[in-house]
Amino acid sequence: MRKPKEWGQPCPNPDCSHYRLMNRGNISAISTYMIQSGKRRIFYCNKCDHCFAETRDTVFFDLRTPEDKVMMALKMLLVKVGLTDIGFVLGVNEETVLMWLDRAAQKAHEINTHLLRDLPVTEVQLDEMWSFIKRKHAQQAEADGGKQRPERGRAAVGMDQLCSGVSPHPGDVCRPENV
Ligand SMILES: [Zn+2]
Repeated sequence: MRKPKEWGQPCPNPDCSHYRLMNRGNISAISTYMIQSGKRRIFYCNKCDHCFAETRDTVFFDLRTPEDKVMMALKMLLVKVGLTDIGFVLGVNEETVLMWLDRAAQKAHEINTHLLRDLPVTEVQLDEMWSFIKRKHAQQAEADGGKQRPERGRAAVGMDQLCSGVSPHPGDVCRPENV
């Protein structure tokens, strides 16, 4: 069983002294239930005596894809796996990956908190990852609106291009260690 500090779920009760605070040991899982995309937990906050469901106020509130897959896609992007390969590993096409990432980008701040905890990355790297995703998505939307669909593989650009395009010191960022 996972320890309480690993849930990554802040208390959603605005009246709670631990409202939106992560990993303070106040949250414990007391039950589970099933939804379309898998198992969800019921959490209990011992600071305010409130229960709440995992889907409520979480990063991927209404994304009908297992959150683990999206987080995995983000992590792979950070370690320079291309969109095509990410899609291959996760069993979806790269347009789907891009759609997930675009949705995730709208909650970038919350997701950064998760990723910074899980990976040896910096906020600079994360910022660049989000701008890469937004740029790719804009290109994709443009291509979809145009006469032709983009060819497969066209979106398969990893962090290499991202770094060389954005960072003034590509060697300093985008090189996560111990990954
Ligand atoms: Zn609470």
